[in-house]
Amino acid sequence: MRIGVCSGSFDPVTSGHLNIFERAAKLFDTLIIAVFCNPNKKPLFTMEERVEMLREATAHIPNIRIDAFSGLLADYVREQGACAIVRGLRTSTDFEYEMQHDLFMQHAASDIETVYLMAGGQYSFVSSSGIKEMAKFHGPIKGLVPANVEQRIIEKYKND
Ligand code: ADP
Repeated sequence: MRIGVCSGSFDPVTSGHLNIFERAAKLFDTLIIAVFCNPNKKPLFTMEERVEMLREATAHIPNIRIDAFSGLLADYVREQGACAIVRGLRTSTDFEYEMQHDLFMQHAASDIETVYLMAGGQYSFVSSSGIKEMAKFHGPIKGLVPANVEQRIIEKYKND
């Protein structure tokens, strides 16, 4: 049984993330989407909201499980019996960040591999922070986030 872990803040999940999940789900028996509780970030959506949005948006992918975690990613991956972490790569900025992250992982957990999938061409500019900025000023986000997320984000900013 091969288990992969896709980790991130997913504040909120975007169509770019979903594209990575759909492709990565074909590479593993089970793909866990693990929402990281990052004490250094103040998220727009609560952990419960992020998990619920992910559940709704991935309901069509049978071998995906949504979870939340805090602490060291390597410990979580081992606890889950997973063999690999999956990350998406958009730009050279992502590459620089991911390379440093990977070197830390090699240092802390040389038994865990990270697999990188290039962002889908139409989503390489999409980020959760860009979506929030666009939505805050009532700009168009249709197609850049799953439909359930579009509704929730519009709701969050409706009085701005
Ligand atoms: P983090 O807080 O760890 O940056 P994110 O939720 O922003 O978490 O992203 C989680 C993962 O998804 C990262 O590997 C990131 O590079 C990837 N990712 C984010 N946006 C996209 C996108 N549009 N296309 C492909 N991968 C993406």
